[in-house]
Amino acid sequence: MLHPSRRGVCLVISAPSGAGKSTIANALRASEPALKNSISVTTRNPRPGEVDGVHYHFRSMEAFRTMANNGELLEWAEVFGRGYGTPRAPVEEALTQGYDMVFDIDWQGHRLLKKALPSDVVSIFVLPPSIEELERRLCNRNSDDQAEIAKRMQAAFDEISHWHEFDHTVINSDLDTAISQAKSILTAARLSTARQKNLFHFIDSFKK
Ligand code: 5GP
Repeated sequence: MLHPSRRGVCLVISAPSGAGKSTIANALRASEPALKNSISVTTRNPRPGEVDGVHYHFRSMEAFRTMANNGELLEWAEVFGRGYGTPRAPVEEALTQGYDMVFDIDWQGHRLLKKALPSDVVSIFVLPPSIEELERRLCNRNSDDQAEIAKRMQAAFDEISHWHEFDHTVINSDLDTAISQAKSILTAARLSTARQKNLFHFIDSFKK
């Protein structure tokens, strides 16, 4: 156990596809080895280089629906006609053990997670520097065809329309700056008084 009396932080990072959310989340995980990753379940096919159990748990729609119906998912949503969800057990285990967790989920997931775990969620919305830059980044992703890119541009506008629901907003024009801002948000969340109930014992020790 890392922090026996401190419950972990649920750090949600959302963004339109192409804003650099995964890069920021990966950099956070690289600099914070104790930071756990919430591995979502999805019904979409793996992209080249994606590994089952590492990037996602890749499941059939039938298996996904069974998990959702059995209450095994903390939140779930359909994005681009495919199922995405957060497995419940690993999150509950990590938080009670005092581990912080990063969630790479969309605005719907953020809304539902906030409802499920209101005092645990701290959220960041990542914006691209401009819509032109977002389009350029999406076109550079060779795994998707033109129709898929057009669909994702529309989805990007939809996702961006929810930016104000998040606790923090980071504009990713310079990656290093965006990463350091995300780190600062995590540090501040860890230091929030409400999360540091363990300090009661520490303060008591001042009286002796
Ligand atoms: P991709 O297919 O590009 O990996 O992800 C598509 C979208 O689904 C992204 O916006 C991503 O954040 C979102 N997503 C990934 N995992 C989850 C999840 O567990 N729950 C929800 N609600 N959205 C997710």
